[in-house]
Amino acid sequence: MPKHPSPQRVKRHQIYTVWEAAEAVGVHRQTVIRWIKDKGLSADTSQRPWLIEGREFKAFLEERRVRGKCRLLPGQIFCLPCRSPKNPEGRIAEFHLKTSTTGALIGICPDCGRLMHRFVGRADLDQIRAQLDVTISKAVPRLVEPDEPNETVTLKQEARTHGKAQRQ
Ligand SMILES: [Zn+2]
Repeated sequence: MPKHPSPQRVKRHQIYTVWEAAEAVGVHRQTVIRWIKDKGLSADTSQRPWLIEGREFKAFLEERRVRGKCRLLPGQIFCLPCRSPKNPEGRIAEFHLKTSTTGALIGICPDCGRLMHRFVGRADLDQIRAQLDVTISKAVPRLVEPDEPNETVTLKQEARTHGKAQRQ
């Protein structure tokens, strides 16, 4: 089993159950559950089975892989297009709570202008806030890409038609 599962094996537009996600990247189901509970992998846990968006799953794995290679300082976020850690533009970031203990830190890359995401534990926030001006948000993100689709609707629609959704 590779230390960092390949994001290439995740289809961006597919919705995964925990079981399917584990199978897709060759890890144990418990590993996926731990990613969701402790590591900030975003999933819809409001119903059974839990559903993971391919897009989120891919981004999560990409981040884990690149982070394995380079250490981020508390105030840095990894920019995937630039493939390097950056201090967000204006040293401003938003923290979006994903679970009760984890969330996504979002900032804008000063070099390419794209959104950067970092999965962080709530416990790390103090350290990060010493470096960045962090807004904590539970609502609609202020920093959004204009073409962002309505995630909730897509997820629910696809879940309904997703034949294997009961396998978890
Ligand atoms: Zn960049």
